[in-house]
Formats: sequence, C-alpha cells, structure tokens
Amino acid sequence: MFKRILLKLSGEALQGNQGFGIDPRVIQKLAVEIKNVHELGIEIALVVGGGNIFRGLMASSQGMERTAADYMGMLATVLNSLALQDALEKLNVSTRIQSAINMSELCEPYVRRKAIRHLEKNRVIVLAGGIGSPYFTTDTTAALRAMEVRADAIFKATKVNGVYDKDPVKFSHAKMFNKLSYKEVLEKNLKVMDSTAISLCMENKMPIYVFNMNDPGNIKRILNGEKIGTVVQEE
Ligand code: UDP
Repeated sequence: MFKRILLKLSGEALQGNQGFGIDPRVIQKLAVEIKNVHELGIEIALVVGGGNIFRGLMASSQGMERTAADYMGMLATVLNSLALQDALEKLNVSTRIQSAINMSELCEPYVRRKAIRHLEKNRVIVLAGGIGSPYFTTDTTAALRAMEVRADAIFKATKVNGVYDKDPVKFSHAKMFNKLSYKEVLEKNLKVMDSTAISLCMENKMPIYVFNMNDPGNIKRILNGEKIGTVVQEE
C-alpha cells in the first residue's frame, strides 16, 4: 500500500534528554529505525526541524527581526540534516541532502525531479532548509514536499503516542484520538501540525500518521496496517 513516505522529525527528536542540540546516541537510534524501514523497500524522504537549535518565532519575540531569525532557524535544519546524513551513511544507507537554500559545498539544491530520481534509485533524501522562506515551518515544508514528491503519506514522529485532546504530559486523563479529519484538527485547534500544513494536506488529501518515535518499530507497524497512533485523513 505504501511505496514512498515522507518522514517528519522535529528538531527536538534529536536532542534526547540533554534539552538542546544533537545527541549522537539518539540520532544513531533514529538512523537504525530509518534504515529498517528503508530495507523493506520503502522510499523515504526526510524533513527535519530545527527547534533543538533555533526557533525563529522565539527569537523574534525577544526582539530579533523575524526574517533574520527565521533564516537562522532554516540553517539549524541544515545542521540537523547533516547529522542525520552522517548517521545514516555510517549504517551504509545511501543518502542525499537537498536544501531549499543553496549551499553547494554541503549539499545539492532542492530540485524536485532530482529528488524523485534519488528516491527511485533507493537513496534516502533529506530535505533541508525548510521551504527556503521565512514565516513558514518545517511542518509546512513536510506537507509541501510530500505533495511534490508524491509521497503516499506523511509520517509525523512525536514523543507521545498520537494526537490528544489535551497535552498528555500535563493531563493524565488526556484522550488520544485514533482517527481525525483535517477539519476536526483545524476546528479543535489540535497540535498535530500548524494550520498551513494541515490545510495543504486537506486540499491534497495527504494522510498524516502521527506516532511515537521512541517505540522502535512503529513505522513498520503502521506500514503493516496496525492501528498505531493517530491518523489524520479525509472523513
Ligand atoms: N523556518 C522557516 N521557514 C521554513 C522552515 C523553517 O523560517 O520553511 C524556520 C522557523 O524560524 C522555525 C525554524 O526554522 O522556527 C525551525 O523549524 P521548526 O520550528 O519547524 O522546527 P521543529 O519544531 O520541527 O523542530
């Protein structure tokens, strides 16, 4: 059923318990997980956030000019992409980074047709630099790129099991949804992805699987049809 997926990792997924930056042990674990899925013959496009290093919105609320802060955020995603590439290549997974901001010494520019070609050649692609414009997020990047490379679904990794009616870390009685429509996510203002990303997915009927990345094997389980986490799709 799934041939090509877009996996969205938040920057925070890379920081482990240290609360900032990149934890090499965590990234190594993530790479093993990605390799295991890739070995099933699934084509993988990765989008990683930058929140473990820099968030534009936060810096701008402290007085920095928003666009400059956002470009710093986009650069943070390039740092994370390089770390992920390194971890994957150590496991002999062939990868290419494509960035929306040109950095020819480090990686290729994002070119949609080349990205698709890499996927067809069984390379994991890491799509860095967000969409290359300020005022956007890497969730929106994930949605846009998933459409562009014609992924079958977005796999959104989180630290909790799925989407809840309230923050499950703060409220022990928080209820997890197994299934949601895009409209419900927008109307209830649920924290899945930002509304720009959700709207894009809604217009293009792109399913979003939200799952816990801390349980090894979860992506595989979803691919096998197990009901893990929350799926956001058409009603
Ligand atoms: N960013 C941006 N345009 C994009 C993608 C990201 O300006 O297309 C900036 C924005 O400042 C954001 C930061 O990069 O705060 C890091 O991305 P994000 O917050 O989405 O990372 P995550 O929450 O997934 O770690």
